[in-house]
Amino acid sequence: MRLEYYRIEYLSTGCFSGLPCSVLRLSGCPYSCFYCAGVGEVSRTTAESLAEQFREGAALVDAVVVGGCEPLMQRGTLRLLELLHGDGLRIKLCTSGHRPGALEKVVASELVEEVELCLRGPLDSEGYFRVTGCEEAVDRVFESLEVLSSWRGHSRVTAILAPPHFAVQDLREVLHMVRRLGIENTGAVHWWDASHPGVAPALGEAAPVQRAVPWEVV
Ligand code: SF4
Repeated sequence: MRLEYYRIEYLSTGCFSGLPCSVLRLSGCPYSCFYCAGVGEVSRTTAESLAEQFREGAALVDAVVVGGCEPLMQRGTLRLLELLHGDGLRIKLCTSGHRPGALEKVVASELVEEVELCLRGPLDSEGYFRVTGCEEAVDRVFESLEVLSSWRGHSRVTAILAPPHFAVQDLREVLHMVRRLGIENTGAVHWWDASHPGVAPALGEAAPVQRAVPWEVV
């Protein structure tokens, strides 16, 4: 089954609870964040071929982080998760929360061990739209948070702040909401650095991130 991706990092230690892991950034994004300058060239392959590459790297790592901006935009992603799981690799999925139906399927399948949902705006329609340019974004994020709240696996929520549209005061409200849903593990908060305009602070790109701190201390 066909898949498109931006990048593979074969060895990382910072993306999956300190485990040595590989990181795959699949293509596909439903948003047009005001600070985005795109994420690079797309390579085309198949789920089978990608799984084969990770199989070869399995001597170095025993986990794979599958992200993108929204990895569940592609139909081949589920197939890839099945193949990686079949090879005994532990899997973390990083999502924008834009495909709650697909997310529900993935967590029900027990293919993934951890899910990280990255928030990009305050949890109201207007606020999320201001950052992402997507009118239906926040409703879908809520649905995805509901999916995670009833999942027994390890879920965490991170946020990319982009003041003034998504600022610290918004985050306090978001944190209460996430806690009310019973999602206990909240992750790091990243700041979009206005001194690097036009650089997308997407998964794995350290350059535009001004600082990352545990959510609880914000
Ligand atoms: S910053 Fe990431 S989520 Fe936002 S539009 Fe760009 S690729 Fe998509």
